[in-house]
Amino acid sequence: MCLPETLKSLQSAVSRRDLFKAGTAATLALAAPIATPAATTTAGQHARRVVDLTHVLGTNMPVFPGNDPMRIDVLFTFERDGYYANRLDLAEHTGTHMDAPLHFAPGGQSVHEIPPERLVGPLAVIDIRERAARNPDTMIMPDDLLAWERRHGRIPNGAIVMMHSGWATRIGDAKAFFNADAAGTPHFPGWSKEATDLLMMERNVVGIGVDTISLDFGASKDFAVHYSWLPSGRWGLENVANLTDVPPAGATVFVGAIKTYRGSGGPTRLLAVL
Ligand SMILES: [Zn+2]
Repeated sequence: MCLPETLKSLQSAVSRRDLFKAGTAATLALAAPIATPAATTTAGQHARRVVDLTHVLGTNMPVFPGNDPMRIDVLFTFERDGYYANRLDLAEHTGTHMDAPLHFAPGGQSVHEIPPERLVGPLAVIDIRERAARNPDTMIMPDDLLAWERRHGRIPNGAIVMMHSGWATRIGDAKAFFNADAAGTPHFPGWSKEATDLLMMERNVVGIGVDTISLDFGASKDFAVHYSWLPSGRWGLENVANLTDVPPAGATVFVGAIKTYRGSGGPTRLLAVL
Protein backbone atom coordinates (compact mmCIF):
# COMPACT_ATOMS: atom_id res chain seq x y z
CA MET A 1 0.00 0.00 0.00
CA CYS A 2 1.51 3.41 -0.94
CA LEU A 3 1.67 6.30 1.50
CA PRO A 4 -1.14 8.48 0.12
CA GLU A 5 -3.48 5.45 0.29
CA THR A 6 -2.44 4.78 3.89
CA LEU A 7 -3.16 8.38 4.78
CA LYS A 8 -6.52 8.20 3.06
CA SER A 9 -7.57 5.06 4.93
CA LEU A 10 -6.35 6.55 8.22
CA GLN A 11 -8.40 9.64 7.56
CA SER A 12 -11.51 7.62 6.78
CA ALA A 13 -10.98 5.49 9.90
CA VAL A 14 -10.78 8.64 11.99
CA SER A 15 -13.83 10.18 10.43
CA ARG A 16 -15.79 6.92 10.95
CA ARG A 17 -14.80 7.00 14.62
CA ASP A 18 -15.96 10.59 14.91
CA LEU A 19 -19.24 9.65 13.34
CA PHE A 20 -19.77 6.87 15.86
CA LYS A 21 -18.86 9.23 18.70
CA ALA A 22 -21.39 11.70 17.47
CA GLY A 23 -23.94 8.90 17.28
CA THR A 24 -24.80 9.73 13.72
CA ALA A 25 -23.62 6.51 12.05
CA ALA A 26 -26.94 4.75 12.44
CA THR A 27 -28.82 7.75 11.07
CA LEU A 28 -26.48 7.95 8.10
CA ALA A 29 -26.81 4.21 7.40
CA LEU A 30 -30.58 4.54 7.39
CA ALA A 31 -30.46 7.57 5.14
CA ALA A 32 -28.03 6.10 2.60
CA PRO A 33 -30.00 4.64 -0.31
CA ILE A 34 -29.10 1.13 -1.51
CA ALA A 35 -28.70 1.21 -5.24
CA THR A 36 -29.69 -1.78 -7.35
CA PRO A 37 -26.88 -2.40 -9.81
CA ALA A 38 -27.98 -1.82 -13.37
CA ALA A 39 -27.82 -4.77 -15.77
CA THR A 40 -25.34 -2.81 -17.84
CA THR A 41 -22.96 -0.66 -15.86
CA THR A 42 -20.46 0.60 -18.39
CA ALA A 43 -20.78 0.95 -22.14
CA GLY A 44 -19.31 -2.15 -23.77
CA GLN A 45 -19.97 -4.48 -20.84
CA HIS A 46 -22.37 -7.35 -21.44
CA ALA A 47 -25.79 -7.11 -19.89
CA ARG A 48 -26.02 -9.58 -17.02
CA ARG A 49 -28.97 -11.33 -15.45
CA VAL A 50 -28.86 -13.31 -12.24
CA VAL A 51 -31.41 -16.08 -11.67
CA ASP A 52 -31.93 -17.44 -8.18
CA LEU A 53 -32.17 -21.25 -8.34
CA THR A 54 -32.96 -21.46 -4.61
CA HIS A 55 -36.25 -22.17 -2.83
CA VAL A 56 -37.08 -19.97 0.15
CA LEU A 57 -35.78 -21.93 3.17
CA GLY A 58 -38.71 -22.21 5.55
CA THR A 59 -40.62 -24.51 7.87
CA ASN A 60 -42.81 -25.71 4.99
CA MET A 61 -39.92 -27.36 3.10
CA PRO A 62 -40.64 -31.07 2.65
CA VAL A 63 -37.93 -33.27 4.20
CA PHE A 64 -36.90 -36.86 3.62
CA PRO A 65 -38.51 -39.40 6.00
CA GLY A 66 -36.45 -39.62 9.19
CA ASN A 67 -35.70 -35.87 9.21
CA ASP A 68 -37.75 -33.43 11.27
CA PRO A 69 -39.12 -30.40 9.45
CA MET A 70 -37.17 -27.19 9.89
CA ARG A 71 -37.92 -25.02 12.93
CA ILE A 72 -37.43 -21.28 13.26
CA ASP A 73 -37.52 -19.82 16.77
CA VAL A 74 -37.47 -16.08 17.27
CA LEU A 75 -34.68 -15.25 19.75
CA PHE A 76 -34.69 -11.46 19.70
CA THR A 77 -37.48 -9.07 18.75
CA PHE A 78 -37.46 -5.36 17.96
CA GLU A 79 -40.15 -4.80 20.58
CA ARG A 80 -38.25 -6.50 23.42
CA ASP A 81 -34.58 -6.31 22.39
CA GLY A 82 -34.30 -3.54 19.82
CA TYR A 83 -33.15 -5.92 17.11
CA TYR A 84 -34.34 -9.10 15.40
CA ALA A 85 -32.71 -12.55 15.11
CA ASN A 86 -33.80 -16.19 14.92
CA ARG A 87 -32.45 -19.60 15.80
CA LEU A 88 -32.65 -22.20 13.03
CA ASP A 89 -33.05 -25.89 13.74
CA LEU A 90 -32.82 -27.97 10.59
CA ALA A 91 -31.57 -31.22 9.11
CA GLU A 92 -28.64 -30.60 6.74
CA HIS A 93 -30.66 -31.88 3.78
CA THR A 94 -33.46 -29.30 3.97
CA GLY A 95 -34.50 -26.94 1.19
CA THR A 96 -32.23 -26.30 -1.78
CA HIS A 97 -29.12 -28.08 -0.54
CA MET A 98 -25.90 -29.87 -1.32
CA ASP A 99 -25.03 -33.54 -0.85
CA ALA A 100 -21.28 -33.56 -0.20
CA PRO A 101 -19.24 -36.70 -0.99
CA LEU A 102 -19.11 -37.43 2.77
CA HIS A 103 -22.91 -37.97 2.74
CA PHE A 104 -22.42 -41.43 1.13
CA ALA A 105 -18.67 -42.12 1.50
CA PRO A 106 -16.96 -42.36 4.93
CA GLY A 107 -13.71 -40.89 3.59
CA GLY A 108 -15.38 -38.39 1.28
CA GLN A 109 -14.99 -34.62 1.32
CA SER A 110 -17.24 -32.79 3.74
CA VAL A 111 -19.03 -29.69 2.55
CA HIS A 112 -16.39 -27.46 4.22
CA GLU A 113 -13.60 -29.19 2.30
CA ILE A 114 -14.91 -28.73 -1.26
CA PRO A 115 -12.50 -26.35 -3.02
CA PRO A 116 -14.16 -23.12 -4.22
CA GLU A 117 -13.13 -23.73 -7.83
CA ARG A 118 -15.43 -26.79 -7.78
CA LEU A 119 -18.35 -24.62 -6.66
CA VAL A 120 -18.57 -22.47 -9.81
CA GLY A 121 -19.15 -23.85 -13.28
CA PRO A 122 -21.03 -23.79 -16.57
CA LEU A 123 -24.64 -24.94 -16.28
CA ALA A 124 -26.18 -27.65 -18.46
CA VAL A 125 -29.93 -28.24 -18.01
CA ILE A 126 -31.43 -31.55 -19.14
CA ASP A 127 -35.15 -30.98 -19.68
CA ILE A 128 -37.24 -34.13 -19.17
CA ARG A 129 -40.46 -32.35 -18.20
CA GLU A 130 -42.61 -33.89 -20.91
CA ARG A 131 -41.57 -37.43 -20.03
CA ALA A 132 -41.82 -36.81 -16.27
CA ALA A 133 -45.40 -35.53 -16.66
CA ARG A 134 -46.36 -38.88 -18.24
CA ASN A 135 -44.15 -41.13 -16.09
CA PRO A 136 -42.99 -40.02 -12.63
CA ASP A 137 -40.52 -42.94 -12.47
CA THR A 138 -38.57 -41.69 -15.48
CA MET A 139 -34.82 -41.16 -15.26
CA ILE A 140 -32.19 -39.21 -17.15
CA MET A 141 -30.51 -41.75 -19.44
CA PRO A 142 -27.22 -41.44 -21.40
CA ASP A 143 -29.32 -40.71 -24.52
CA ASP A 144 -30.67 -37.54 -22.86
CA LEU A 145 -27.12 -36.28 -22.35
CA LEU A 146 -26.14 -37.12 -25.93
CA ALA A 147 -29.28 -35.37 -27.25
CA TRP A 148 -28.33 -32.25 -25.24
CA GLU A 149 -24.81 -32.41 -26.72
CA ARG A 150 -26.14 -32.64 -30.28
CA ARG A 151 -27.90 -29.31 -29.71
CA HIS A 152 -25.43 -27.45 -27.49
CA GLY A 153 -22.03 -29.10 -27.99
CA ARG A 154 -20.06 -31.28 -25.64
CA ILE A 155 -20.83 -30.84 -21.92
CA PRO A 156 -18.18 -28.29 -20.91
CA ASN A 157 -15.31 -29.04 -18.54
CA GLY A 158 -16.19 -28.34 -14.91
CA ALA A 159 -19.91 -28.36 -15.73
CA ILE A 160 -22.82 -28.59 -13.31
CA VAL A 161 -25.56 -30.69 -14.92
CA MET A 162 -29.13 -30.34 -13.70
CA MET A 163 -32.22 -32.46 -14.20
CA HIS A 164 -35.23 -30.30 -14.99
CA SER A 165 -38.28 -32.49 -14.44
CA GLY A 166 -40.83 -29.82 -13.55
CA TRP A 167 -41.07 -31.18 -9.99
CA ALA A 168 -40.15 -27.85 -8.37
CA THR A 169 -43.72 -26.60 -8.86
CA ARG A 170 -44.90 -29.27 -6.39
CA ILE A 171 -42.60 -28.31 -3.51
CA GLY A 172 -45.35 -26.47 -1.60
CA ASP A 173 -47.38 -29.70 -1.44
CA ALA A 174 -45.41 -32.51 0.23
CA LYS A 175 -47.94 -35.13 -0.89
CA ALA A 176 -47.58 -34.22 -4.57
CA PHE A 177 -43.82 -33.73 -4.19
CA PHE A 178 -43.19 -37.26 -2.84
CA ASN A 179 -46.08 -38.72 -4.88
CA ALA A 180 -46.13 -41.93 -2.79
CA ASP A 181 -48.20 -44.94 -3.76
CA ALA A 182 -50.44 -46.94 -1.40
CA ALA A 183 -47.40 -48.87 -0.11
CA GLY A 184 -45.62 -45.59 0.71
CA THR A 185 -43.06 -45.79 -2.13
CA PRO A 186 -42.38 -42.33 -3.55
CA HIS A 187 -42.56 -41.76 -7.29
CA PHE A 188 -40.55 -38.89 -8.76
CA PRO A 189 -37.90 -38.67 -11.49
CA GLY A 190 -34.13 -38.83 -11.00
CA TRP A 191 -30.77 -39.66 -12.51
CA SER A 192 -29.96 -43.17 -13.76
CA LYS A 193 -26.59 -44.64 -12.77
CA GLU A 194 -25.89 -45.19 -16.48
CA ALA A 195 -26.11 -41.43 -17.10
CA THR A 196 -24.04 -40.40 -14.06
CA ASP A 197 -21.47 -43.10 -14.97
CA LEU A 198 -21.14 -41.50 -18.40
CA LEU A 199 -20.55 -38.09 -16.78
CA MET A 200 -18.09 -39.63 -14.31
CA MET A 201 -16.02 -41.65 -16.82
CA GLU A 202 -16.27 -39.71 -20.06
CA ARG A 203 -16.87 -36.08 -19.14
CA ASN A 204 -15.37 -33.65 -16.65
CA VAL A 205 -18.29 -32.63 -14.42
CA VAL A 206 -18.04 -31.29 -10.84
CA GLY A 207 -21.65 -31.77 -9.78
CA ILE A 208 -25.17 -32.76 -10.72
CA GLY A 209 -28.50 -31.40 -9.55
CA VAL A 210 -32.19 -32.25 -9.42
CA ASP A 211 -35.42 -30.32 -8.88
CA THR A 212 -36.65 -33.24 -6.73
CA ILE A 213 -35.51 -34.23 -3.22
CA SER A 214 -33.15 -37.03 -4.33
CA LEU A 215 -30.48 -37.59 -6.98
CA ASP A 216 -31.91 -41.10 -7.38
CA PHE A 217 -35.46 -41.53 -8.64
CA GLY A 218 -38.12 -41.80 -5.93
CA ALA A 219 -38.78 -45.54 -6.17
CA SER A 220 -35.07 -46.40 -5.93
CA LYS A 221 -34.30 -49.03 -3.33
CA ASP A 222 -30.51 -49.09 -3.72
CA PHE A 223 -29.66 -45.36 -4.11
CA ALA A 224 -27.26 -46.38 -6.86
CA VAL A 225 -26.49 -42.80 -7.92
CA HIS A 226 -25.86 -41.58 -4.36
CA TYR A 227 -23.60 -44.60 -3.69
CA SER A 228 -21.51 -44.17 -6.85
CA TRP A 229 -21.51 -40.44 -7.70
CA LEU A 230 -20.79 -39.03 -4.23
CA PRO A 231 -17.96 -41.48 -3.39
CA SER A 232 -16.32 -40.45 -6.69
CA GLY A 233 -15.58 -37.06 -5.05
CA ARG A 234 -18.32 -35.19 -6.90
CA TRP A 235 -21.26 -33.47 -5.26
CA GLY A 236 -25.02 -33.21 -5.82
CA LEU A 237 -27.69 -30.57 -5.38
CA GLU A 238 -31.29 -31.34 -4.47
CA ASN A 239 -34.48 -29.24 -4.51
CA VAL A 240 -33.14 -26.88 -7.17
CA ALA A 241 -35.65 -24.12 -8.05
CA ASN A 242 -36.52 -21.96 -11.06
CA LEU A 243 -34.88 -24.00 -13.80
CA THR A 244 -37.56 -22.65 -16.16
CA ASP A 245 -35.79 -19.27 -15.95
CA VAL A 246 -32.39 -20.40 -17.27
CA PRO A 247 -31.36 -21.52 -20.75
CA PRO A 248 -30.29 -25.15 -21.35
CA ALA A 249 -26.72 -23.95 -21.93
CA GLY A 250 -24.67 -20.81 -21.43
CA ALA A 251 -25.25 -19.79 -17.78
CA THR A 252 -22.64 -19.96 -15.02
CA VAL A 253 -23.73 -21.30 -11.62
CA PHE A 254 -22.36 -20.20 -8.24
CA VAL A 255 -22.96 -22.83 -5.57
CA GLY A 256 -23.04 -21.09 -2.19
CA ALA A 257 -23.04 -24.24 -0.05
CA ILE A 258 -22.94 -23.67 3.70
CA LYS A 259 -19.39 -24.25 5.03
CA THR A 260 -20.24 -26.40 8.04
CA TYR A 261 -17.34 -28.28 9.65
CA ARG A 262 -17.67 -31.99 8.73
CA GLY A 263 -21.05 -31.25 7.14
CA SER A 264 -22.57 -34.00 4.97
CA GLY A 265 -24.11 -31.21 2.91
CA GLY A 266 -26.37 -28.32 3.70
CA PRO A 267 -28.52 -25.42 2.58
CA THR A 268 -27.13 -23.74 -0.51
CA ARG A 269 -27.77 -20.41 -2.22
CA LEU A 270 -27.65 -21.22 -5.88
CA LEU A 271 -27.23 -18.38 -8.38
CA ALA A 272 -27.06 -18.64 -12.16
CA VAL A 273 -25.48 -15.75 -14.04
CA LEU A 274 -26.54 -15.32 -17.66
ZN1 LIG B 1 -29.52 -34.45 0.32
